[in-house]
Amino acid sequence: MSLPGRGLAKGLAVTLRTMTRRTVTQQYPETPPELVPRSRGVIALFEENCTVCMLCARECPDWCIYIDSHKETVPAAAPGGRERSRNVLDRFAIDFSLCMYCGICVEVCPFDALFWSPEFEYAEEDIRDLVHERDRLREWMWTVPAPPALDPRAEEPKEVAAARRTADKLAAAQAAEAAEAAQAAQAERTAQEQAAQGRDAAGRPRDGEAGA
Ligand code: SF4
Ligand code: SF4
Repeated sequence: MSLPGRGLAKGLAVTLRTMTRRTVTQQYPETPPELVPRSRGVIALFEENCTVCMLCARECPDWCIYIDSHKETVPAAAPGGRERSRNVLDRFAIDFSLCMYCGICVEVCPFDALFWSPEFEYAEEDIRDLVHERDRLREWMWTVPAPPALDPRAEEPKEVAAARRTADKLAAAQAAEAAEAAQAAQAERTAQEQAAQGRDAAGRPRDGEAGA
């Protein structure tokens, strides 16, 4: 048999206990949430890197990535060379009303064209506005956090090593060219000075001036 008022006393005890605890509720939107830097808020597109390979659209489990493109012919780089064709992006859109934020598209993109941004404030009154077209996806790009610093002991990435070797070669070729030009200028100056003093290139007095 339960005592009358026992439930009330139990409820008051819970109220008293929680009254003395620190509040953990954040009053959003007055207090923005503290998100971890790599939160999955929205997907950003860096379209310069997109080759329209369609991998992201094919792998998306929700089929919510829409891509349209056409082919363009690029003329041969040198006479007699072959023309090439390349894909040109016409449309890239993600429907965030279908997206389940699994991140597969970001993971599979082989050309680093998709990134996670922690921005999440893009709720809409009309569900159709949750389809973000390429311009909007590009705007999100400016909110993508910088990647974490590389481990100083890590091996240099292949691309960086190749770029550095090319830059070193270019700098060495430019330095050699500059040294050659300086040498030629010096030789010309010497020749002019000797001509002014009446001597030949080997420094001997010219004919008719030997006995003077
Ligand atoms: S996060 Fe997942 S569901 Fe959303 S677009 Fe990418 S692959 Fe599709
Ligand atoms: S996987 Fe990357 S490169 Fe390929 S279509 Fe998607 S965004 Fe573009």
